[in-house]
Amino acid sequence: MPSSIAKPVFVVTGPSGAGKGTLIELVLPRFPELALAVSATTRAQRPGEEDGVHYWFLSPDNFEHRREAGDFLEWVDFVGNRYGTLKSEIDRLRAAGKAPLLELETEGAKRVKKRVEGAVTVFVTAPVDELERRLRERDTESSGVIDDRLAKAREQLAEAGDFDHVVENDDREHAAGVLAAIVAEHLHSPATMARP
Ligand code: 5GP
Repeated sequence: MPSSIAKPVFVVTGPSGAGKGTLIELVLPRFPELALAVSATTRAQRPGEEDGVHYWFLSPDNFEHRREAGDFLEWVDFVGNRYGTLKSEIDRLRAAGKAPLLELETEGAKRVKKRVEGAVTVFVTAPVDELERRLRERDTESSGVIDDRLAKAREQLAEAGDFDHVVENDDREHAAGVLAAIVAEHLHSPATMARP
């Protein structure tokens, strides 16, 4: 990998239902050098999700095996399932000259900030009643799981101040514009340009 080109790692974090995924979908096509890192998870595959595209869907044993082998940059237990960022995924994207974009809950985002030099963290937020509406509308989980995710969302909202940038997702086009401006600022700043 050419060490003279240091592209930042972007981490988009925030509570479930804040619309991280939607904003990422809107922003990714605007930057050819940006690439989404595929996380590993033990949670069940939702309809429409593909292995290797939305997540690497691992059995709990396989996840544990990879965790013990030190394959994860970070991992968490989140509402009954495990999620983790594979080091190999970041290495693969960086070797291809891309700036990896990670979508993580807040603990993982903080760990990446500590462990990866130059990581840029963006907290996406929305009002609690809006989070609840979106989680219930999404209707991919049972009501017990939705309640757990909402409780977790309330905890996570209090952590907004721990991140480099906060994006309020009230209007998604506007919020995507704000996120794109943050990405552009860090991607094209002199500190991340190729050095001779
Ligand atoms: P979901 O089950 O809704 O896809 O994801 C649940 C939460 O896990 C979301 O907040 C998502 O951003 C987060 N998440 C997804 N992949 C990872 C990962 O690799 N590490 C961490 N720490 N969180 C993740």
